[in-house]
Amino acid sequence: MANNTMQPIEYTLTRTSRKNVNITVKNDGVIHVSAPKRVALADINKIVLSKREWILNAQKNIKSKKIIKNDVLLRNNASVYLYGTARKLLIVPCMKNFVAINGNTIVFYVKEEYSNDQKYKSSFFNKSLKIELMKDINKFANKYLKLLNLSLNEIELRAMKTRWGTCIPAKKKILFNSKLVHCPYEAIEYVVLHEIAHLVHPNHSKAFYALIEQYMPDWKERKNLLQDYLIK
Ligand SMILES: [Zn+2]
Repeated sequence: MANNTMQPIEYTLTRTSRKNVNITVKNDGVIHVSAPKRVALADINKIVLSKREWILNAQKNIKSKKIIKNDVLLRNNASVYLYGTARKLLIVPCMKNFVAINGNTIVFYVKEEYSNDQKYKSSFFNKSLKIELMKDINKFANKYLKLLNLSLNEIELRAMKTRWGTCIPAKKKILFNSKLVHCPYEAIEYVVLHEIAHLVHPNHSKAFYALIEQYMPDWKERKNLLQDYLIK
């Protein structure tokens, strides 16, 4: 059997003043290595090769993630993740625009004159999903604000790349990622409670997670669901 463990692995190298060699696999599957200046290239290659299995596993994990793209081409049979389920898109020319979820199908009724206009369709489609998501977020927010005896001034949806939500306790304002609409309900509910809990603890302390646990004993499983989604 051929031994291919010695095949070189491609990576980008950054020299740092840190003490150790550090290997990370980024969301695009590219391997980044940072190493102190004193470590010779040959030794870095050896270290990278010794981590081969771990690297391949990490890359496989990334491939299995559900990728949420900002610009899905809205055409018949396109696959769109909505509330954690991959659904087929059906585009139906109609007198007026509206979006309906019918089991695993999303029916997008669109005015005939715009049925080939991607920009127009995308704008209306995203607006409809935002309205749906806002209803869910409001429902969950009302539930936990009541339970925790708290209040909020403002909830805003925004397309963000790196976070699902942000709380600004001083303004009693929470921003939620509009891409949450693609994730499961249980995960959306977790993000809502997480951000509301920041009104009490503006950090990720033990007390913060204890508060979440009190109202959502299965929060860890819900949080893990989010790991499957990658925003691009
Ligand atoms: Zn947080």
